[in-house]
Amino acid sequence: MLNFFKKKEIDCQDMKSLTQAFAKQRANQIVSKTVSYDLVLTLKEGSKYEGKVQVTFEVTKLYKKDIYIDYSGDKIVGLKINRHPIKIVEWNGKFLKLKYNYLIDNGVNMVEIQFKNDYSNNGCGLHSYIDPKDQNQYLYSQCEAYYCNMIFPNFDQPDIKARLLLTVTIPKHWKFIANESAKSSIETNEYKKIEFNPTAYISTYLYAFIAGPFYQIDFDLEDNNMNHLNCDIPMSLYCTQSRKQSLQKQKDFIFDVTCNGINFFEKFFQYKYPFTKYDQIFCPEFNSGAMENVGAVTFNDNYLFQEEVDIQKLSSFANTIIHELAHMWFGNLVTMKWWNDLWLNESFADFISHFCLSKINIKKFESIRENIWLQFNFRKSWGYREDQLPTTHPIAGKVPNTDVARTIFDGITYSKGASTIKQLLFVIGEEIFSQSLATYFGKNAFSNATLEDFMQSLSMTYSKVKKMDFDFRSWQKMHIQTAGLNIVEPYFDPETSQTTLTIVQSCALQSHLNLRRHKMKICFFDDNATMHDQTIYVLPQIDTIIKYKYPFRIRAVLLNFEDHAFVKVVLDKESLSFFKKNLHYIHDDLTRTLIWRSIFEMVRDARISSDEYLDIFKKNIVNERTDSIVINQFMYMKAVLFSYTPPQYLVKYSEDMFNFIQEYMRENLYSKNKIIALRQIITSFVKIKDSIDLVESSYLQQIKIQKSHKGLNALAKAGLRTSNVVSLIHSSNFHSREQKRKFYENYLLSNNNIFNQTISQRCLIQDFTLQECQYLWETFIQYPQVKSLKVQEAAMSAFNLQNQYPKFTDEWFNSIEKVFQKQTKEYASLFFDQLFPRDDNISYICDRLRVLLEKVEKNQKQTKQQQEYGFLLIKKLKVAIDDIQRKIKAHNKFIQEEQNKMKPSL
Ligand SMILES: [Zn+2]
Repeated sequence: MLNFFKKKEIDCQDMKSLTQAFAKQRANQIVSKTVSYDLVLTLKEGSKYEGKVQVTFEVTKLYKKDIYIDYSGDKIVGLKINRHPIKIVEWNGKFLKLKYNYLIDNGVNMVEIQFKNDYSNNGCGLHSYIDPKDQNQYLYSQCEAYYCNMIFPNFDQPDIKARLLLTVTIPKHWKFIANESAKSSIETNEYKKIEFNPTAYISTYLYAFIAGPFYQIDFDLEDNNMNHLNCDIPMSLYCTQSRKQSLQKQKDFIFDVTCNGINFFEKFFQYKYPFTKYDQIFCPEFNSGAMENVGAVTFNDNYLFQEEVDIQKLSSFANTIIHELAHMWFGNLVTMKWWNDLWLNESFADFISHFCLSKINIKKFESIRENIWLQFNFRKSWGYREDQLPTTHPIAGKVPNTDVARTIFDGITYSKGASTIKQLLFVIGEEIFSQSLATYFGKNAFSNATLEDFMQSLSMTYSKVKKMDFDFRSWQKMHIQTAGLNIVEPYFDPETSQTTLTIVQSCALQSHLNLRRHKMKICFFDDNATMHDQTIYVLPQIDTIIKYKYPFRIRAVLLNFEDHAFVKVVLDKESLSFFKKNLHYIHDDLTRTLIWRSIFEMVRDARISSDEYLDIFKKNIVNERTDSIVINQFMYMKAVLFSYTPPQYLVKYSEDMFNFIQEYMRENLYSKNKIIALRQIITSFVKIKDSIDLVESSYLQQIKIQKSHKGLNALAKAGLRTSNVVSLIHSSNFHSREQKRKFYENYLLSNNNIFNQTISQRCLIQDFTLQECQYLWETFIQYPQVKSLKVQEAAMSAFNLQNQYPKFTDEWFNSIEKVFQKQTKEYASLFFDQLFPRDDNISYICDRLRVLLEKVEKNQKQTKQQQEYGFLLIKKLKVAIDDIQRKIKAHNKFIQEEQNKMKPSL
């Protein structure tokens, strides 16, 4: 019988996660590029697997210090260090001690570890999914940021790059996709054993283990749809059997984008694709959009569209494909040394994907290229929002441990960082940018680099080409190492013929008073809305005076024309009133987008009321001709209406918008993209029974008379989607549980996506007694982990929408700290977001959040143990409070304007 070693406390700095200091010490103990993992995995159907790994590595002089190896799986069943069997294994469930007296000082060592483990169900480590449609089991790994050690024992830090030599035994009907292609395969009765080619030296967070009866499509130049492409890298696409129809429909698009991307990057980076193959695998229950594992990129299978999508969604998918591809160079070939430079990976990939899409042509989808900078600006909302929160941080900040690393995959790292790279490109120019990247990749290939290395490549190339100095260090300090958003506002007098414009720069947050130097263009508009631009520098001070001279009167000004800087642009009164009337005369799409954005930000800042915004929206959207702008602006409008309009006005304003959209659809019935987007959104505005009935009857009518449009109303002609109508019916208070269930069973496809799970849970939860709700609530607090995280998420979301008992507001406040203490961070975050109290009295909720925040902060100061959970909870509380405060301010502005309207004019 095997002797199982139980988790035992050992002294490893009491570490719960990997600290930067410890990682640094370990990287010094191990000689670079000497590590390899000879890993053998036996993966079976069910919930458990086993494996053994032989770790070979050379150590430096140890000075009697032990080495630790990371493993947070279930069991270790055997350990040998340099062939010595170790009887007493010292392992605290996170770190396994390799005692120095068994190690060969200054030489090559070999450690053999046998382990047993469970598959995970939260999307981290080795996730298992059973497709309810056909009962097929699928496995896929997610190792970033610090989850590779959940799968097998290894030195899980980005700067200990290692070769992986993988052998797997899997059921015969499964496929296995790894970082490298297979070298050999032997079949026995039920199983097959596959040996893979060794990988290059890559970081452990980029390892990939994907298994199951996947459906596969190979890239094939003989295929008529692909033979216009030029690419010699072996590529395949994979998805679950139940999603293969979607993949068949989308394969040409995916291969087209990928091939064009590879060709573009090889040229722009002046470095050939660094790995041997490029597979893309679509995975169910995936936590994020995608993950850039070397040669085996995993995607959320929501990207396999089940319904027809608009150009905006398609363009966002293209962007994700290119983003992950860019990582093969930036991140995978050259990797950050530690997580504090995560931005180097993500900001860069986020920017360069848009840049690439602005240069390549995708067959039949040329409009992606035309609109990609609109898309970039749309995505900037994420960065703008987070950089105005009290929780913001510098793009490159401190990341003391892997727990913190998990929390910085955010709008600052991605969206603000990408905008800052765009600013840098504007400052130094495309040619120098490309040259510097070539230097950077050439110098650091298959190694690790830091911000310093990146900046050095830039400044070296810059000084060679430009023969002059640019202070990269001060630029870096200003833009990368300080936090908080800058606001710029123009002051000029359109009535006089004056020729100076003052740009006033300020800071969005009192806690981050950093004024910066921004290179940007500004644009002047004459009476005919014709544009005249000039390039300027906004200085790192309050006032920047700009001189201009035009032989006509200036009617409006737009700062940050062409969107090169990351600043919030306020419109002055004159310009706002000019744009309100003349927006549709402006021929440039990006310029109109920037003006729309400024108006939106002005509502968020309570400079104008949501009522005024909605008026501007309705007057101008009817003249807007570019689909992407229409689609985006309807999204912004939805946010304004539901967040910044006082609750007592919501029914009236929603209904008004419902009627407006119907009319708009009638006018635009033959504009495919607009209709696809609007039929998705329109059901959000249905608030009264008559409208629900109208949507329901239009939908049923549409199903009956599918072929001909005759006799259908605009809604039915638009082709309402089942998912939206079902969702509407299921959140309505006008239907019984039985009516809802019937509707669900009749019309919803039997797919087990998160949407369907939520809907079926809603059916179940409706009309629950207080006692039943209480029972469900207890399971949320305790989370027995029987269901996967995604299924639990669906249950929470359904509960929060369906339960009618105010008691659960108190319950949420009473249990939130406990949940953060006891559960994983991923689960606690879901609990916070999905079950957040839905109470119209937001001031009351805000007061309670403040009291809670104070309490948690006080507790956190008192004991060390609570710091672990406190960090994330405090962050989430601060964000929620800020969000509500903004809403309260906007609601007050609305009410104040209403009162002003009531006053008799004198
Ligand atoms: Zn990325």
